[in-house]
This record gives sequence, C-alpha cells and structure tokens, in this order.
Amino acid sequence: MNIDYAKNNGLVPAIIQDATTNKVLMLGYMNEEAVKKTVETNLVTFFSRTKQRLWTKGEESGNVLNLVGIKLDCDSDTLLVKVNPKGPTCHKGSDTCWNEDNTQSFGFLSELESVIDDRKNNATEETSYVASLFAKGINKIAQKVGEEAVEVVIEAKDNDDTLFLDESADLLFHYLILLQAKGFKLSNVVDVLIKREAK
Ligand code: AMP
Ligand code: ZN
Ligand code: ZN
Ligand code: ZN
Repeated sequence: MNIDYAKNNGLVPAIIQDATTNKVLMLGYMNEEAVKKTVETNLVTFFSRTKQRLWTKGEESGNVLNLVGIKLDCDSDTLLVKVNPKGPTCHKGSDTCWNEDNTQSFGFLSELESVIDDRKNNATEETSYVASLFAKGINKIAQKVGEEAVEVVIEAKDNDDTLFLDESADLLFHYLILLQAKGFKLSNVVDVLIKREAK
C-alpha cells in the first residue's frame, strides 16, 4: 500500500467500518507506525493526537477492533478499515461514536419493514392492505406466504421472467409481514445465517 502520509503531516484519517453490518464505528488517525502495528497485530492501532503516542483501541477497555482489511481511497490519503469489533466502540458506551446501534441494515428492505410496522400499529383494515392482513391473524398471513411460495414455484417453471420476479416480490413482501407478525425482523434471520457460516 502506497499511503500518502505527507499530505497531512504524517497522519492519515482512518474510517473504521464494521465488516459485517457496514456501520461506520469511529474515525481515528494513523501514522506509518500505527498502520504497521495494526497489520502486524491484527488489532486496530491509531496515533492518538491527545496522548501523542500509539494507541491500540481497547488497550484499557478491552473493546478491541479486530482487523479484517484495509482499503486505500482514490488519492491514497484516507483509509477505510474493515473490522470485527469486540464490544462497543465508543468510550461513552455506545456501539458507534455517533450513538447508533451496530445492527444490520438492509437498505430498502429495512425501510419496507418500517412501513409494515407503521401500518400494523397505526392503520385500519379499511385503508391498508397490510393492516387488514394483521387483523386476520397469523394463520391467514402464514397461509398467504404459502400461496405466494407456490406461485413462485409455478413461475419458476415458466419462461416469463417478469411474472417470476413479480411473484418473488409478493413472496418477500408477505414473508416480511409474517416475520413481523411473529415478532421478528429480517436481521434475526440473517443472524442465524451468519452463525451458520461461522461454523
Ligand atoms: P480504549 O482504547 O477503548 O481502552 O480506551 C482508552 C481511552 O481512549 C478512553 O478512555 C478514551 O479516552 C479514548 N477512546 C476510546 N475509544 C474512543 C473512541 N471511539 N473515540 C475517541 N476516543 C476514544
Ligand atoms: Zn482522498
Ligand atoms: Zn466515541
Ligand atoms: Zn403472488
């Protein structure tokens, strides 16, 4: 890695990102020695501007950042450091230095989960299809997932890609509703998959 240390008096900003959730955990600065130590020990080590010395994150708290990989930006003056954190990263106790939970986010699917949750709690059967499903109860919702799954199977045997994708979307949508009806989120299922992969 050809890092441009000169541009900022020997220090490069290092954006620390969770390798699994993609959440940004904190920002620190590294000099050449800190980068070297990080790579050698697999524990993220900064140059602390307050302490004016190398600082291995977690050296007191035990909340270390295990190194997964380092990427250099387009003009070689900023690091993106992917990690697996042990414990909360911020010294104030939260998962990230922006007071966020370090949980999985699935972009649009997570937004859709929020919409479903909102309809479940705030809408009426008359105005919302989602609310009407929740009103019918869990057996009905599960049955609907079964029907959509069968439709996916049928369309998989056809050559109509549009219908296959439409039915796939129906299945995913109703599955998200079933998950919420059971009190779960997509992240609970993904956690199970991640645990399996780790074995
Ligand atoms: P630690 O490296 O977690 O043992 O923390 C040692 C000290 O470093 C703390 O008492 C804070 O002063 C500082 N510190 C730890 N984590 C952070 C952070 N995420 N951002 C800024 N300062 C931190
Ligand atoms: Zn840059
Ligand atoms: Zn912090
Ligand atoms: Zn369908």
